[in-house]
Amino acid sequence: MDFREFDELASHREAACAWVEAHVRPEWVEEQRRSGTHQTAELHTLLARDGILAADWAPEYGGSGVDPGFARAVFDELGRRGLACDGWSTTSMVLRTIEHVGTEEQKREYLPAALRGDRLIALGYSEPDSGSDVAAAKTTAVRDGDEWVINGQKMFTSTAQLCSHVFVLARTDPNVPKHKGLSMFLVPTDSAGYDIQPIHTLGGQRTNATFYADVRVPDSARLGGVDGGWGVMHVALVHERSASSPGSDGGSLVRDLAAWARTARRPDGTTVLDDPLAAERIGRMAVDEEVTRLLALRNRWRAQKGDLPGVEGSMWKLFATEAAQRHSSNILDILGPEGVLAPDAAGAPAGGRFEEGFRAAVVGTIYGGTSEILREIIAERHLGLPRNR
Ligand SMILES: Cc1cc2nc3c(=O)[nH]c(=O)nc-3n(C[C@H](O)[C@H](O)[C@H](O)COP(=O)(O)OP(=O)(O)OC[C@H]3O[C@@H](n4cnc5c(N)ncnc54)[C@H](O)[C@@H]3O)c2cc1C
Repeated sequence: MDFREFDELASHREAACAWVEAHVRPEWVEEQRRSGTHQTAELHTLLARDGILAADWAPEYGGSGVDPGFARAVFDELGRRGLACDGWSTTSMVLRTIEHVGTEEQKREYLPAALRGDRLIALGYSEPDSGSDVAAAKTTAVRDGDEWVINGQKMFTSTAQLCSHVFVLARTDPNVPKHKGLSMFLVPTDSAGYDIQPIHTLGGQRTNATFYADVRVPDSARLGGVDGGWGVMHVALVHERSASSPGSDGGSLVRDLAAWARTARRPDGTTVLDDPLAAERIGRMAVDEEVTRLLALRNRWRAQKGDLPGVEGSMWKLFATEAAQRHSSNILDILGPEGVLAPDAAGAPAGGRFEEGFRAAVVGTIYGGTSEILREIIAERHLGLPRNR
């Protein structure tokens, strides 16, 4: 692995910072926190207008020619300031999947529109009875001439409230082993028979249940072959677990803690940092943070070489999200009773970010593959251990 590959990103940081300073409104962070919707429409329009969404794409599909390093640095900077672009993250995973497995017609239909900021795509994999075992999906798609009729329910269809499409995993053949009878569809959210209900999670994030009652889509909305959905899902999942951002992995939380610990006084007049146990915990967090950053850089390095990061994406996701849980738990221990003050409470340290971070960390090890599933992937594919399931 050659870290020099990333020097070019460092040279974009100043310009990225200037772009964010000039365009981002600080109240957007608060809006995302209050609404639980981790995507801001105005910001998305600006990112599209300035070609940042379209930075890393071929011109024939709407690529803007903007330097991909600059675009990545902008997203890093947004993450650092606490602004998420979750709707765009899922959309870009699906766009990369379309790039890999879509027909030329599909590439021309979906890629330019999404890169112009006119399409957002949510992931419709999980169901009430299938999350980790996603291949057990019960939502069905039945062919009717040139159309498919979709019936079923999806759980945790995050950011669907802003999306133009849901990327739906559906069963197209119930009479074969479960992995072999699935297909993927891009379902417009303005389709007749589509419905959505909000779900508010412990971490404050809003996600959704989405419902499909005789929803009709044309065959051109099918991505990949009939019954070839499992292979398509695999491409999409690899992109999900490799969507790592070295600049936004909670680094600022530990920095905030260190800043607080330097000045906060205990009743005996000493600072929190004078306590060697607190200092040791903060030091360990900083080490975890660096490991997380390096694992993320490895993903980027592989992606830059044109590889599809596989098991590396799982390693990053597992380490980053479990470290976030350890950190937020340690932080609450160090803070004591003040640590549980929520963002709206008077006197909450760091404006309540620690309490909020603790709740958010709980769900981190669930979405995008649970820790148990990721460990199995690493055991099988990295260490060659026998399959457990
Ligand atoms: C905030 C949030 C956002 C989400 N966003 C989306 C989204 O946008 N689109 C989408 O499709 N899904 C989304 N999900 C769903 C997420 O992918 C699933 O919750 C996840 O895959 C786990 O599935 P499950 O909830 O059904 O739990 P289960 O699969 O029922 O797992 C329950 C427990 O059993 C363990 N377990 C299950 N199988 C095994 C096994 N074989 N070996 C060892 N342990 C096992 C799990 O690790 C877990 O601890 C989201 C979830 C959350 C919480």
